[in-house]
Amino acid sequence: MSETEAQPQRLLIVEDEPHLSAGLKLNFEFEGFEVDNAATAREAVALLAGAKGYDAIILDVTLPDSDGFTLCKRLRAAGNFTPVIMLTARTQASDRVTGLESGADDYLTKPFDLDELIARVRSMLRRLSWERRAPVVTSSYTFGGAEIDFERHEATMDGKPLKLTSLELDLLRYFVQNAERVISRTELLEKVWKLPNYPNTRTVDNFVMRLRRHFEASPSNPVYFRSVRGAGYKFVPAG
Ligand code: CA
Repeated sequence: MSETEAQPQRLLIVEDEPHLSAGLKLNFEFEGFEVDNAATAREAVALLAGAKGYDAIILDVTLPDSDGFTLCKRLRAAGNFTPVIMLTARTQASDRVTGLESGADDYLTKPFDLDELIARVRSMLRRLSWERRAPVVTSSYTFGGAEIDFERHEATMDGKPLKLTSLELDLLRYFVQNAERVISRTELLEKVWKLPNYPNTRTVDNFVMRLRRHFEASPSNPVYFRSVRGAGYKFVPAG
């Protein structure tokens, strides 16, 4: 475990704006990452198909030959679940939702704060190493019409396959491991997102809403992923 931690984390930056791309590379290298740049979706696909493998991808939404949403969907459909943080110049909620639904794990709106981007990337990677180290007490799990195989990254609802992002899966796993217990948003940010002292709990609400859309017959009237007023959330597997 310590030897994997000693290896530099490999990052792929997919961004066509040369100054931003070079600036990001420089800053992430300064932070100890190994960084490759791709200026087009085509270059990104070629690099991702190579033998090196990446620990995380920073993906710009507007690319000259495609867009980040399409590229991310394509990766996920091909079984590549490398954590993706999407950079979007658009501020509309619908674009953020599209980004997350395309399989991104997180997003930042341009112009963004470099320190925040670095913190978010680190948070994704901490989640991943936690995931690898976590005892597999819940490799597969069922509740209601849902069947989840955490190890194989597969889930079905009433027999129909679902596409869950790695963050959705991590959040779900935490709920499963803490079923019937009221969990605060702060605890979720700390334990699942690995972002202690991060004030924006809206991220948590967005992701709980995504779990509800996957698993609840009526997402606005949840029986499994319940809100506990003033306290947080409680997962009730019996519904
Ligand atoms: Ca761009």
